[in-house]
Amino acid sequence: MERADYFRMFIDGEWTDGSGDKKRPIINPATEEVIVEVPDGTPEDAKRAVDAAARAFREWSRLTPYDRAVILKKAADLIRERLEEIAKLMTLEVGKPIKESRVEMQVCAGYFEWYAEEAKRNYGELVPQWIPSKRHWVIRQPVGVVATITPWNFPANLLARKIAPALAAGCTVVSKPDHRTPLVAMAIFKCLQDAGLPKGVANLVTGEPAEISAVFFADERVRKISFTGSTRVGRLLMQQASEQIKRLSLELGGHAPVLVFPDVDVDKAAKWTVQAKFRNNGQTCISPNRIYVHEQIWDNFVERVVDYTKRLKMGNGLDENTDVGPLIDRNGLEKVERHVQDAVAKGAKVLCGGKRPEGEQFKRGYWYEPTVLVNITRDMLVSCEETFGPVMPLIPFSDKDEVIEWANSTPYGLAAYLLTYDFRTLIDVVERLETGMVGVWDFAPATFQCPFGGIKQSGFGAEGGWEGLKEYLVTKHVSIVLDY
Ligand code: NAD
Repeated sequence: MERADYFRMFIDGEWTDGSGDKKRPIINPATEEVIVEVPDGTPEDAKRAVDAAARAFREWSRLTPYDRAVILKKAADLIRERLEEIAKLMTLEVGKPIKESRVEMQVCAGYFEWYAEEAKRNYGELVPQWIPSKRHWVIRQPVGVVATITPWNFPANLLARKIAPALAAGCTVVSKPDHRTPLVAMAIFKCLQDAGLPKGVANLVTGEPAEISAVFFADERVRKISFTGSTRVGRLLMQQASEQIKRLSLELGGHAPVLVFPDVDVDKAAKWTVQAKFRNNGQTCISPNRIYVHEQIWDNFVERVVDYTKRLKMGNGLDENTDVGPLIDRNGLEKVERHVQDAVAKGAKVLCGGKRPEGEQFKRGYWYEPTVLVNITRDMLVSCEETFGPVMPLIPFSDKDEVIEWANSTPYGLAAYLLTYDFRTLIDVVERLETGMVGVWDFAPATFQCPFGGIKQSGFGAEGGWEGLKEYLVTKHVSIVLDY
């Protein structure tokens, strides 16, 4: 593909190859072809980006939220104008179907627009006092320079959820996208530049993840780090944050259960569960990972799930009819294989899929067939670790208390789903599930106006909604004595 000028780092308002001479090839996971090479940044580049963000902070934080909103809304408009071009980049570097990439870009623009407005409502408080000669204000101010580290599976939304509220709040940012998928992030930064963002306010660096993030943790001017990624890396970063008591948000892994009760429309429940499971080929932190189905509807549900799964069209994401693309890389593919082999060795039965697809089209790329498994036990990897791929384990249940206990049994607590029409079941189960989000007939709970985030080892902090803005604000109490 043609090399865009902006396939570079963006530091202090300029596109740059940085101080090193190393390049990193960006690979199309559907074909294993090199899409383009990008500069691989160095710790010096990361330091320069922090310098720029620190310099820009004073002026940017002093603008009114109305002035910042003009730029952020313009960026949202540009993202919408360039939607088709950026969605194509996303499909090339992530492999996801183009129709999913388009939706992600629409939502990405929504984050910028929504936070441009929401920051205008960063109201303080005047707190009633018990001593007549005192007055108390509480104000919320931008935290300072923010560093963001984001993964590859939603390269636009996971970035926008961080930098839109941070910029709207008055913070300046340094972002490090995933090393495999920097192109969409670069295209978004180009929109910010063209929208008139002052230099240094938002900076983008590439490079070896641990080396670049070490710069963020070591620099006292970086006041907050917001990370989305695996629980394994989140744990490492939390240790590093303790050195300077650095503020941290962690959006980590998940292992979402789906509870299907017997009163549902079985066909609809099966169809929607299949659509949700294989979205982005199962590479979603809130992907349904364990599907608990009431035994009264078990046979019917399983039959329909297998039928809908077999109808999914696998192929290159650029094809408009593709439902399921490849996995992100060889590691991702091998992990899926390992999980299926482990399940089968422990007694699971494969109802469909369970192998790499055959055919010329799949000779290159990281492909695995959409897979449905039954005879699942708790000791299988699919029951307790994130598979992050197209594998759907189905588990029968008969007792509500037992299924809630099993659903809550992993260390994760990101999302859970509930399919029922019964009001009392809904209230009871929603209140007892140990997750940050519950989707009731809704497999896409992430949206810019509501908080997204996990509990337990799925992390802490929220993205989206007013809560997502507060992540980038510090609270100051101003106490005034009048009779001095
Ligand atoms: P990962 O943790 O390996 O990578 C995420 C980011 O961290 C990338 O930018 C990567 O370059 C960087 N990174 C990797 N190793 C690092 C290190 N040692 N030090 C500093 N940075 C490092 O995650 P992944 O496996 O590529 O992504 C998928 C994971 O992300 C899954 O666990 C998924 O559930 C999770 N995720 C969570 C959410 C959420 O909102 N909770 C959303 C999407 C993905």
